[in-house]
Amino acid sequence: MGQNEYDIHASLKKYFGFSQFKGLQEQVINNIVEGNNTFVIMPTGGGKSLCYQLPALMQEGTAIIVSPLIALMKNQVDAIRGISDDYGIAHVLNSSLNKTEVKQVKNDILSGVTKLLYVAPESLTKEEYIDFLRSVKVSFVAVDEAHCISEWGHDFRPEYRNLRTIVSRLGDNIPIIGLTATATPKVQEDIIKNLGINDAKVFKASFNRPNLFYEVRPKTANVDADIIRYVKQNAGKSGIIYCLSRKRVEELAQVLQVNGVSAVPYHAGFDAKTRSKYQDMFLMEDVDVVVATIAFGMGIDKPDVRFVIHHDIPKSIESYYQETGRAGRDGGEGHCLAFYSYKDIEKLEKFMSGKPVAEQEIGNALLQEVVAYSETSMSRRKFMLHYFGEEFDEVNGDGADMDDNARNPKEKQEAKDDVLK
Ligand code: ADP
Ligand code: MG
Repeated sequence: MGQNEYDIHASLKKYFGFSQFKGLQEQVINNIVEGNNTFVIMPTGGGKSLCYQLPALMQEGTAIIVSPLIALMKNQVDAIRGISDDYGIAHVLNSSLNKTEVKQVKNDILSGVTKLLYVAPESLTKEEYIDFLRSVKVSFVAVDEAHCISEWGHDFRPEYRNLRTIVSRLGDNIPIIGLTATATPKVQEDIIKNLGINDAKVFKASFNRPNLFYEVRPKTANVDADIIRYVKQNAGKSGIIYCLSRKRVEELAQVLQVNGVSAVPYHAGFDAKTRSKYQDMFLMEDVDVVVATIAFGMGIDKPDVRFVIHHDIPKSIESYYQETGRAGRDGGEGHCLAFYSYKDIEKLEKFMSGKPVAEQEIGNALLQEVVAYSETSMSRRKFMLHYFGEEFDEVNGDGADMDDNARNPKEKQEAKDDVLK
């Protein structure tokens, strides 16, 4: 039986209980089991994990999964252990393990039980681990959240930049799989270059969210009143309101409460107990609205968020896409409303002024795109998708009429003057 004769449908059912692949999963998995380098770009929730988990479970040897967050790794390891009788089928290798635990992990790998080994990039630089992993069969290395490699990404992690060298030390021709939800061409180039996977087949899913309605309104001194009116008109619906500062979060939450809106604040300044209390209140629908900094949202999966309001414009299109992406997960209505004032852009510029020059340059370039998005009179969906390197037909495309500019076109000439960069 050749290497590419794996029955991936049967395995999907067997391991995950699903009868169908989502989006590009099947093509991706076929490419991986053929032993090729692979690059996967899919929006959050697109089902990237399964793209490496399934081949890892099917193939001989152990797959190494590089992931930036212990919490993410733990979640996945627990989930995989849940589908198997072998506790050792998945392990995390990190600095919190004691000697006995490390020994157990090594034994499970050596005996062929462990199919997935999750590591943080910094653990992978440890000589002891490199030596060990050189001596075992590594099926492939998957680099999850691969945008961490790029300074143009939103979560740059310098340790991610050594991965290529380390993988080369682990053995010859170990396939590398990069995965990310960051769609900008710049970040993609960085990833491919840094992982040394020029030959990788690239699988990119569409980032279009046809059920989201995008709108930008000018931000005036009455922004709070505007928000209150909006929320009252949408009473009973779940929504998130993002603010830049913790102070503003608390103020706005209070203003909403005073005006009879059930709202809670959320930011990283609250202790863990308070945070999870407010988060649960929102998830359980004890309140309609959460007013939050960007600390809120990571891994939050409330399917029926009906609106996402930005009291302050975010620092990049990327962030805006991620944050608004929390609306309408169930495919239903999702209104994305941003209040924009150039003053806020200047504020964000000021925040960056203490940072290294290179970082400032990148930050400013990203901000200019936010300005262009906010001020454009063309289809906002087209703008956003173009930013992600994707063509969009603003007449017939899916969701073409779902933004303020599409519904109320400004002067045609004005639109023409908007030049796509
Ligand atoms: P991503 O990493 O791309 O953000 P995840 O890997 O976390 O996405 O997957 C998102 C959700 O999709 C998970 O709940 C997962 O179980 C589910 N999922 C993945 N593949 C399938 C499939 N083929 N059928 C049904 N659900 C799937
Ligand atoms: Mg993921």
